[in-house]
Amino acid sequence: MIVGERLTAYIHSLEMPESPICEQIRRQARKEDVPILRMETASLLKVLLMMRHPQEILEVGTAIGYSAIVMSEWIPANARIATIERDEGRIASARENIRRAGKEGVITLLEGDALEVMRQLEGPYDFILMDAAKGQYIHFLPEVMRLLGPGGVLLSDNVLQDGDVIESRYAVTRRNRTIHSRMREYLYELKHHPQLQTAILPVGDGVAVSIRKDEEVSDVR
Ligand code: SAH
Ligand code: MG
Repeated sequence: MIVGERLTAYIHSLEMPESPICEQIRRQARKEDVPILRMETASLLKVLLMMRHPQEILEVGTAIGYSAIVMSEWIPANARIATIERDEGRIASARENIRRAGKEGVITLLEGDALEVMRQLEGPYDFILMDAAKGQYIHFLPEVMRLLGPGGVLLSDNVLQDGDVIESRYAVTRRNRTIHSRMREYLYELKHHPQLQTAILPVGDGVAVSIRKDEEVSDVR
């Protein structure tokens, strides 16, 4: 936990209940140990969606469909969501949840490895939620930049790895070491990329909110 336990509990205590289907999926995720967006991250997501009114949304990492269904409740009526997942069991659960939510017309589930699937997409997308394997974000970034339209928002979840990202390379377990250095590289790229403006926030498991500058803005710099 990045923010103290008591503060997090307090923030959670202020949250309004979600739609019945989202509450159900949140319970399913807890039971099946599926890492879905934390409540405070979902709240931030809803606010960003209401600020930007995106038409075309891409999600990398569907899991069982929680965040895709949340997004579908906070976007304009004619907006569409494409979401990518590679795990067969989760694909089946996500399809079932999307059907139960009545969102089959809004959410398209794309099956397969994110990098391969993204290569087939044309874009542009107005909003991209990056929420897959943390160690791969840096490899996804070139495709994400190709697909993100001007003024588009990229929200990346789990970027602070429960605070591990600031530990020395050697203090993190061997298994996490590669993820650790790749995540640092990813955050560096987000902050230094000439076409992005990024804020890294210690919300939930750490999120990065980036916006793609249009030509004019990047000329000014
Ligand atoms: N966005 C979801 C949670 C996603 S959890 C929510 O908040 O509801 C991350 C998911 O990404 C996992 O289900 C995992 O199977 C998937 N994933 C990880 N790497 C992937 C890849 N390279 N291609 C496709 N899916 C991937
Ligand atoms: Mg996540």
